Amino acid sequence: MDLKSLIRDIPDFPKPGIMFRDITTLLRDRDGLRYTIDLLQQKCHEANLTVDYVVGMESRGFIFGTPLAYKLDAGFIPVRKPGKLPAAVHSVEYQLEYGTDCLEIHQDALPVGSKVLIVDDLIATGGTAVATAKLLQKVGCELVGFGFIIELRDLNGRRHLPNVPIISLVEY
Ligand code: IMP
Repeated sequence: MDLKSLIRDIPDFPKPGIMFRDITTLLRDRDGLRYTIDLLQQKCHEANLTVDYVVGMESRGFIFGTPLAYKLDAGFIPVRKPGKLPAAVHSVEYQLEYGTDCLEIHQDALPVGSKVLIVDDLIATGGTAVATAKLLQKVGCELVGFGFIIELRDLNGRRHLPNVPIISLVEY
């Protein structure tokens, strides 16, 4: 299946000069959605990944991470923007083009030593994925891989990531 044909390109969003890859058109396509999750699962098996938990970043990481966790017989852990999680959290600040952003995880989100796959819809600079990997270090679990639907190859975000398998389904 041609997943790219289901992803819509929106020029100048969220600001001029940015080409936004819109996955809402993929999500609404029942065959495309099923194929996407099944393919992620298949690639995890091909990479021989053992996954206790999928960690997904707010908010599009939730959409793909939860069904993948279900398919992998794993749990799902949300990483959220500041102030959203109700119990004690670990926080990591990271650089954006202009300014900084922050991500949080519950301190007791998962047992020490758990094997974790990080899932998001898209990797651009890699800043979000690196920040999430740092959160996982803080909770003492083992990162076994990354899964993305879309990878923006020109930005080469993967060079910043730890040395574990990186799965991506569509490249631009
Ligand atoms: P990075 O931190 O630069 O790798 O950016 C990745 C984050 O930005 C992910 O959480 C994405 O959801 C979001 N993002 C950046 N560009 C796009 C896009 O074109 N479409 C959808 N999400 C995007």
